[in-house]
Amino acid sequence: MDMGLKGKKAIVCAASKGLGRGCAEALAREGVDLVICARGAEALEEAANAIRARTGVRITAIACDITTPEGREAVLDACPEPDILVNNAAGPPPGDFKTFTLDDWRAAVEANMLTPIALIQATVYGMMERGFGRVVNITSGAVKAPIPVLELSNGARAGLTGAVAVIARKAVKHNVTINGLLPGAFDTDRLRSVIRKTAEAQGLSEEIVAAERAASSPAGRFGRPEEFGAACAFLCSAHAGYITGQNILIDGGAYPGLL
Ligand code: NAD
Repeated sequence: MDMGLKGKKAIVCAASKGLGRGCAEALAREGVDLVICARGAEALEEAANAIRARTGVRITAIACDITTPEGREAVLDACPEPDILVNNAAGPPPGDFKTFTLDDWRAAVEANMLTPIALIQATVYGMMERGFGRVVNITSGAVKAPIPVLELSNGARAGLTGAVAVIARKAVKHNVTINGLLPGAFDTDRLRSVIRKTAEAQGLSEEIVAAERAASSPAGRFGRPEEFGAACAFLCSAHAGYITGQNILIDGGAYPGLL
């Protein structure tokens, strides 16, 4: 299927690895020029070079922390009028409600709620004027079913989901959509580091912990970043202009509810 995206411009945040990279790769395959960012310059350059070599699209790589005003300014300077915005940043750490400080909550809200809101506010009105725009917020399955040890994430991501629900419905008349993509367990560095810590804490091997976790999914495996990227590319495509304000789980069937 031709996604109708050739020559469009996208900002993909936090894209040197994992889910952000999966989205960047999938959009580049559709001929989308990219501005990508990540915190570490080396992995970011490696990703930019690899994607450029495979697809031939123009890629600008900005090493920055997207959760800071300076990071957002650098990315927006490089691409002031994106057609596509994929919001992403590392999730908050696990912990317990009893010991979280207000600063912990502020950091989670800053990274996973206010940062995407700021980028949407800076770009969505231009998209509406130009008559095309796609925003995908990478959030978490926690939006549908809160995860016990990730209360900071549950709160910040639910906040973002509520915050964009109205603008998603105002923008769609202008062929601009805003949707959430909610990952379950995907095989990325983040998942592997959680597995490593669990294995250490339980005195088990990483292989055993990973195999048990994968087997607990109805799919019997972890998701692959390229599967996530393909879904993102479809939501960004010319064909998806009637899908807005939705929060779409990609979790191999892990969420047990009907809706
Ligand atoms: P990852 O650790 O594999 O990749 C993170 C990427 O984001 C790297 O390129 C890193 O440089 C970049 N990055 C992180 N914070 C950044 C920042 N502040 N500014 C710029 N770049 C930044 O992570 P992932 O597994 O791809 O996760 C992406 C998001 O999805 C996270 O918010 C994570 O919590 C969420 N999530 C992941 C899973 C999963 O199973 N992988 C499940 C649910 C939610």
